[in-house]
Amino acid sequence: MVHVGIGYDVHQLTAGRKLVLGGVEIPHTKGLDGHSDADALMHAICDAVLGALGEEDIGHFFPNTDPRWKGVPSRIFLEEAAKQAARRGGKIVNVDATLIAQAPKIYPHIAEMKKRIAAALGVSEKQIGVKATTNELMGFIGREEGIAAMAVAGVDLPE
Ligand code: MG
Repeated sequence: MVHVGIGYDVHQLTAGRKLVLGGVEIPHTKGLDGHSDADALMHAICDAVLGALGEEDIGHFFPNTDPRWKGVPSRIFLEEAAKQAARRGGKIVNVDATLIAQAPKIYPHIAEMKKRIAAALGVSEKQIGVKATTNELMGFIGREEGIAAMAVAGVDLPE
């Protein structure tokens, strides 16, 4: 039976940090602040997969108070989510995600993001959807104070 999970994440944009989204470093004047590489897209996907398993969220597995996860690439979190799915005999059916960012332009990086997300989850790129939208200049995302991501994941689990 296919179980569906949802994930959402947001990080603040700040000067002096790299901008990493979907495992891709994107040239920009600011980057996302956080304990790890602050890859909001991978974090949202991670929570979507964990949610489909009925598991606790990414913060439970990787607390931001734990120095082990400081500055780490977020693919580690996705690999763990995939491991949790496999442990239950589950198969990730698909992931779909939307990035909400006023700037920079996300579209040129989407193909590479899909590749890296698929690799971390151990699935094909065809199973990964990544889309992007601006926030039409409104609110904190519109003011370029942060970037948000949402994701859903389908995981086929034995009854
Ligand atoms: Mg996060």
